[in-house]
Amino acid sequence: MNEKISIPEIYGSCVFDDSAMRERLPKKFYKELKETIENGTELRPELAEAVANAMKDWAIEHGATHYTHWFQPMTGITAEKHDAFISPTDDGKAIMEFSGKELIKGEPDASSFPSGGLRGTFEARGYSVWDCTSPAFLKEDSSSVTLCIPTAFCSYTGEALDKKTPLLRSMEAISLQALRILRLFGDQQTQKVITSVGAEQEYFLVDKELYNKRKDLIFTGRTLFGAMPPKGQQLDDHYFGTLKEKVSAYMRDLDVELWKLGISAKTEHNEAAPAQHELAPIYDNTNIATDHNQIIMEYMKKLAPRHGLECLLHEKPFAGVNGSGKHNNWSLSTDWGKNLLDPGKEPHKNKVFLTFLLAVIKAVDENAVLLRLAASNAGNDHRLGAAEAPPAIISIFLGEQLEDILDQIEAGNITGSKRETSMSIGVSTLPSIKKDVTDRNRTSPFAFTGNKFEFRMVPSSDSIACANYMLNTIVAESLKQFADELEKADNFDEALSLLMQRTVKEHKKVIFSGNGYSEEWVKEAERRGLPNYRSMVDSVYSLIEPRSVKMFEEHGVLTEIECHARAEIQYEIYVNRLMIEARTMIDMVAKQIKPAVMAYAKVVADTIASLLAVGADADVEKELLSDITLNIKELDAQYKKLKEMLDKACAIDDLKTKAFFVKDNIFTTMENLRKPADRLEMLTDEKYWPFPTYGELLFNV
Ligand code: ADP
Ligand code: MG
Repeated sequence: MNEKISIPEIYGSCVFDDSAMRERLPKKFYKELKETIENGTELRPELAEAVANAMKDWAIEHGATHYTHWFQPMTGITAEKHDAFISPTDDGKAIMEFSGKELIKGEPDASSFPSGGLRGTFEARGYSVWDCTSPAFLKEDSSSVTLCIPTAFCSYTGEALDKKTPLLRSMEAISLQALRILRLFGDQQTQKVITSVGAEQEYFLVDKELYNKRKDLIFTGRTLFGAMPPKGQQLDDHYFGTLKEKVSAYMRDLDVELWKLGISAKTEHNEAAPAQHELAPIYDNTNIATDHNQIIMEYMKKLAPRHGLECLLHEKPFAGVNGSGKHNNWSLSTDWGKNLLDPGKEPHKNKVFLTFLLAVIKAVDENAVLLRLAASNAGNDHRLGAAEAPPAIISIFLGEQLEDILDQIEAGNITGSKRETSMSIGVSTLPSIKKDVTDRNRTSPFAFTGNKFEFRMVPSSDSIACANYMLNTIVAESLKQFADELEKADNFDEALSLLMQRTVKEHKKVIFSGNGYSEEWVKEAERRGLPNYRSMVDSVYSLIEPRSVKMFEEHGVLTEIECHARAEIQYEIYVNRLMIEARTMIDMVAKQIKPAVMAYAKVVADTIASLLAVGADADVEKELLSDITLNIKELDAQYKKLKEMLDKACAIDDLKTKAFFVKDNIFTTMENLRKPADRLEMLTDEKYWPFPTYGELLFNV
């Protein structure tokens, strides 16, 4: 892996990007396609035909034999159905063909993907529809090259069955409302407002051979058993530590593959937990950033085995050490590149910025439960609120300068902005540096970080689409309410001042700069009336509340039917994941843990008998054996209880009832089953322990 690589040469070489299109499409078609991509004008069949042809030629020159409509069903991972370019001819030969029709529309069977009741198996038709705003790309593996065409996925009746469709709809919705606000400020130049995202992806790497010995990792992506090793992350010596050779070879390989796909993987460093790492690409518009994040996750997993590794994307692969998340850095900008969340040098005078800032604050406060849901999956329930990740309570960190300005707005007397100050480090040879106006707050779930908001609750293994269409929609709704009010006003400046003052008063309760991990904050948040849901199951209702449905319908992001379907899917996926975890635990207890502990108990018992036979003292051995017996009894009791709970859960039909049953009974029984197992691990000779321990998994890469 030491060969020199020319980054400019390989960067984007596997993407049918703007330059490939310009080079290969007749000028008039190129211009027309750009118009469609940038301004959403309708795509004519002739244009699709021309693009399909150029795309096919390009792909075949790069070795592709197949193409696939690449889409993101509700499973959270991507799906693809491969077709060959080949088309047989009358003379028994074949030519390579790809038509405009095939580019625009595919027909994967929709019944095998979660649809929340939208599709039955008897009405299976689903359509994948070309998303020309996200460039097609080539996926290479050892045996083939495939042209991947990003698509949206919907049912025969037009309901969205994927994560991309609502995201695209929400991008249009927020642009529309943001433009209304900009027009009120006299901006006639901006034609479109774009939401951008940079998603920082956390992940773990473990040794592939050790991984293969753990059924829980294979079936559920996380360890269901495991006692803490003597060393965890107490020394904080992993964070930003030097990369091990195997890991840096993997990262370099990953970088190169991602660069070829035009994904700007930029920063890579160790994270807080042992074996944990992070990758952040440079931000892009929300649609492309979402597609890229899917590709990043896929390649992280795909490339790891080449290096004898396995990549874990689960939110909580190991109890007792930090889990993984995704920091979703989100901002709004105009089509000519002005960041609307950039406060500038004098934020107190920047009314456009303050209006957008307040729209976000209002949106987050009014829709905290929806945001909580957008960052939910079964894995994230192990993180949020567990004093390592943001709490499950949604609050906003703004920093000193902006909080001060909001105070001024509330008081109705805006006087100025606090300035950045110089800071000397106290060593004459070190330069004095400018101190940022605000410090960082790592415990906040939703933090303003200079010119963007960082939503830090997003689960590491999930698509970021949901978090972003939620953000886009709720902010679109605030902007709409602002615009409705301001457009009617006789005196704009006066109306704006009153609106800003009222918004601060009503929503400042969501602003919090203290330690989000502390017990006091939980109490304080309760006092302020902020919701705190420990489990995702508790927050699903927010999607089908009348006010949410109204909002999603009004902005054309989700229909009522789609909201209900998505709520059902949330319950269904939660139930399925926990049931698989429970069954895996049962399997491991019955076939691995119990037999191992019993074999070891026999050795101890034999030792006791031998010692006593020669008249020696066997007190220590006896104590060990009774400890083992006690714990194995407890293990067996919880094991039986878990089986019983599983049977009960299986008998429940209604998905919502089932999800709550699983959360209240199976989740807790699993935790109770784990405890005696982990104690037994500490009592058993390691030669007998049936699978690799935390110590081996965390410190062997
Ligand atoms: P951190 O200090 O939180 O680890 P990084 O610099 O590693 O931050 O990552 C920040 C992420 O935010 C990157 O993906 C970066 O491209 C992205 N980002 C920077 N500016 C913006 C912006 N205006 N809008 C959206 N994302 C942005
Ligand atoms: Mg971050």
